[in-house]
Amino acid sequence: MGKAKVLILEADYDPTRLLRCMRQVLDAFPLELEGKRVLLKPNVLGPWPGESGIITHPLVVRSLAEALGERGALVQAGDNPGVRGYGRMGRLAEATGMLEALGDDWINLASQPRKVPIRSRFLEEITVGGQVLDCDLLISMPKFKTHVSTLITGAVKNSFGFLVGGEKARMHALAPRFRDFGELMVDIYQLRVPDLVVMDAVTAMQGNGPSCEDIRSLGLLIVSDNGIAADAVMAEMMGFRPEDIPLLKVAAERGLGPIDLAEIDIEGPLRRIEGFKPPSTLPRSSFTAPFQGLAFRLIARRAFKVDRGRCTACRTCERSCPAGAIKVENAPAFDSSRCMLCYCCYELCPEHAIDINRLVRFIQR
Ligand code: SF4
Ligand code: SF4
Repeated sequence: MGKAKVLILEADYDPTRLLRCMRQVLDAFPLELEGKRVLLKPNVLGPWPGESGIITHPLVVRSLAEALGERGALVQAGDNPGVRGYGRMGRLAEATGMLEALGDDWINLASQPRKVPIRSRFLEEITVGGQVLDCDLLISMPKFKTHVSTLITGAVKNSFGFLVGGEKARMHALAPRFRDFGELMVDIYQLRVPDLVVMDAVTAMQGNGPSCEDIRSLGLLIVSDNGIAADAVMAEMMGFRPEDIPLLKVAAERGLGPIDLAEIDIEGPLRRIEGFKPPSTLPRSSFTAPFQGLAFRLIARRAFKVDRGRCTACRTCERSCPAGAIKVENAPAFDSSRCMLCYCCYELCPEHAIDINRLVRFIQR
C-alpha cells in the first residue's frame, strides 16, 4: 500500500466550479467507475439546509454525483440520521435540499436493514443499511466539524450513519464514555472502509459541534483515499493534535491510516485555522484530561440549559434520548440521574435550544 494522499482544493458552492473541482478529484484519485454502483454517504445530521454549515452541502453531493455519472458510474446518495429517525427521511430530504439536488438518487439508508457480525469488544452483531455493504464503491462525504463527544466529526464519525435508527441509541448505551465511544466508531468504520473521502470544508464548524451555529468560512474541499489521513489533516487544521483524538489514536494503532502528517502526501493549501475554537470537551493537556473528564461526568449532566424562547416543544430531544432521561411538556425536563452524556439531545435539537451550561465552559477554562 502506498503513502496515503490528501488533496486540499479551493472551492465554493457555485455549481459550475464545484463540478470542475469534482472532475479534478476523480482525475487525482482514479477509480474504476464504468457500470459500478457508487454510494455517496454525506453527513446529514438533521433537517438543516446546506447553508447552515451543519450538513454536507447538497450541491457538493450533486456535483460529485454528476462527475461520477459522466464516467459511467451508477450513483446513489443517502444517509440515516438521528438516533430513532425511522420514517422521517422524506421530510428530512426536503428540508435539507437533498431531494431537490438528487431527486430519485437520494435514498434512505435505513430502508434495507441488515444484521451483520462486527469485531468489537462492545458487541457482536449490529444492524446497518444493506446498501453500504452492497455498493461497489463507497465515497464518504463528511463535513468539516467539531463534536462534543468525539471531538471531530469527519470520515470515521460519518460511518455512524451506516447504523439503522435505534442501533445508534444502543451504541451510546454500550459505550457511554467518550474514549470508548471513539473506539466503537472505529469498529463501525471498519465494517465498510470508504474507497474515497470528499470532505465539505467550504464552511467549517467550530466550538461545540456537531450542530451549533458557530461557522467559519474556509473555502476548501479535503479529499483523500484514506479516511484516517483526511481526519488527521482536518484535526491539524483545527489546531488539535491528532493523537489527542481518541478515534484517530485507535484507528492509527490498528494500522487503518496515518495520523502523523509527515507520513501523508499532502497537496494543496494546508493551514492551521487561526483562533479556531475547540469543543469544551477537548482535553487541554494529558495531565488535566482525567480531571476534565471527571468534572464533566459530575457536572455536565446537570447543566443542560434550555432556551425557552427557542424551544417549540417538538419532542425531538425526548425521542432521541437513548436513556429516556427527557420528558417534554412545554419544554424538556431532564432526569440527570439517567443521563449518560451522549449529547444526542443537544446535537439533534432543530432549534438549537439546548446548550451546554456556561458553568461547564468555566470549569473547562
Ligand atoms: S429542546 Fe429542542 S428538541 Fe427539545 S422540544 Fe425543544 S425544540 Fe424540540
Ligand atoms: S439527556 Fe441528552 S445527553 Fe443525556 S442521555 Fe439523554 S440525549 Fe443523551
